[in-house]
Parts: sequence; C-alpha cells; structure tokens
Amino acid sequence: MWGCAVFWRSLTYSLFVIFLSFSSQGFSQQSGGSGKSIYGEELRLLRFPTSHETYGAAKHKFYIQSRLHGNETGTTTFTAWLMNRISEGKSLLNQLSSDVGESVTFDFLPIANPDGAKSESRLNANQVDLNRNFGVMWGRTSGNPGASAFSEPETAAIKQIIEKGHYTAAVDVHGYVNWVVAPSSYQQVRFSERQVTFEQRYIYASWIKSIKSNLTLLNSYEIKTAGGLGDGGAFEDWAFWRANTLAFCLEVQEVKDRGNLDAAFEQYERFLYASFKSAIQLKTTPTASEINDQNTAVVKREVVH
Ligand SMILES: [Zn+2]
Repeated sequence: MWGCAVFWRSLTYSLFVIFLSFSSQGFSQQSGGSGKSIYGEELRLLRFPTSHETYGAAKHKFYIQSRLHGNETGTTTFTAWLMNRISEGKSLLNQLSSDVGESVTFDFLPIANPDGAKSESRLNANQVDLNRNFGVMWGRTSGNPGASAFSEPETAAIKQIIEKGHYTAAVDVHGYVNWVVAPSSYQQVRFSERQVTFEQRYIYASWIKSIKSNLTLLNSYEIKTAGGLGDGGAFEDWAFWRANTLAFCLEVQEVKDRGNLDAAFEQYERFLYASFKSAIQLKTTPTASEINDQNTAVVKREVVH
C-alpha cells in the first residue's frame, strides 16, 4: 500500500509538472542561482517576457511564488492558470505595462518546495516549515522553523532570487483560507529586531493602506499578519523588512473542477493587478516627508493583533 501511495503521489506530481510546462509556454527558464531542493530537484524560475533585453530594461519586476507548503496543490493550479493567461495575452497583467506607462516583467516560482510537493507534505525533506524559516522574527513559532534562518536550501535559494531580482513586489501564494497576510507591523517586528527607519514606516503604512483598499476586490477576505497570527520566519516579513520588496501572502481557494478555473481565479488576478499597480505608484512617488499621522493610526488600530 505504501508503494502504491508513493507511486500515486509521484504520478500526481509528474502530472503537475506537465500541466505547468504546458501553462508556461512563452516563459523562459532562468538557470543559475535558482538553486535545488534537498533531494536535488531544481527550483524553476520562469520569466515573462522572455527577452533578455526587455528584462534588463524593465522598470518594475514582479515575483510570484507558490507551493512553499508542498501539500497546497491548488496554489500551483493558480500560478499555472495565471501563467497560461499571461502567455496567451489574456491576463489583466498583460495590460499593466501600458496602463502605468512603465515596462514590467514577471518571474514565477510555481513549485517553491519540490520535495514537499512530491510527497504532498507541507514541510520540506528536513521536516522544516519553509514559511517559518525566513530571517525576520525567526523562531517565534510553534511549527519547526529549522536550525536557523535560511538553514534550508529552498529558502536560501529564494533569498538569493529575491535579493538578485530587486522586485517591486513579491507574492507568496498559499491555501486555503480567505486571508491576505500582509507584512507584520513594525511594532511587531521591532520586538526582537532592529529599529526601523522613518522611511520604512512610511512605506509600511502606505503598503498596508493599499492592501486594505484592494482587498475589496476579493470576496469575504480578511487582512492578517504573521506576527498577529503568532508566526515568525514568514516570507513576506523578510521580503518587506529585509529585502526592500513590497510583499504579501495571498491565500487562494482550491478549485477541484478544472472547467471552473476562470470564475474562481479571476478575482485573484484582479487583486494582483491592483496590488502591482499600487506597488508601482508607491515605489515611484514616496518621500519620507509625506508620512502622516493618519496612516500610522490606521496601522496601529487595525493591523496590530
Ligand atoms: Zn501555506
């Protein structure tokens, strides 16, 4: 029975890889620096548009990863669906560049935890919860956060991708509760971390304000933070506070009926489009002098748990 279960999981994984390859036509695979899992599976970073010149000149780069928890199959279904839409030119994200008047590119890491995906486990092969292994508030969690921050090859690879990528915004796709998990507040992060700068506080307040405003695009969704949920070492906290990247975790619903993907996923596409637009505005316009007490008050009242 065990052998049969392993065979089935492996088959399911292989089918997913085929599904993904089909969906990612028109994307180029980035080699070097993407890294490998404990069992040597490559973390495949896929880029659109494919032209090197376009990427080099792009004013704003966006990053979307899924399946950091290997058993959250539906997260790869979403990213594969989105990649397919982009490659066919049918996605709202295809319009982003002309709508904002800036060149943009998208990088996807659809299977961030290949070993966990293969065994349908939340954890990686070391039994570490990878979304507790990043370097902000590391160890402040009930799950296994690993031996130290970035102790795992998968998170070390993602760290390198984010640091090299200089993304305007980065999204980590999870499942399946109706939450957008925003970066933890600076009060939460500061508890065991260095003081944050005035500029970072301004950007934080503005980013939270954008997420809250865009949240109306999602049906019955709530905003959370890892700090508020009692979790340290989350991707979006590290990306925001340490890698200067506007980030959040988007929890998507699982869709079993493949014929129904558009209806289920279009709301997330609209949310990503709005979020990326907000991120571009925020990265292009802010100055520290624009910070105001009202923004700070919103953060204190509604985000800190
Ligand atoms: Zn998850």
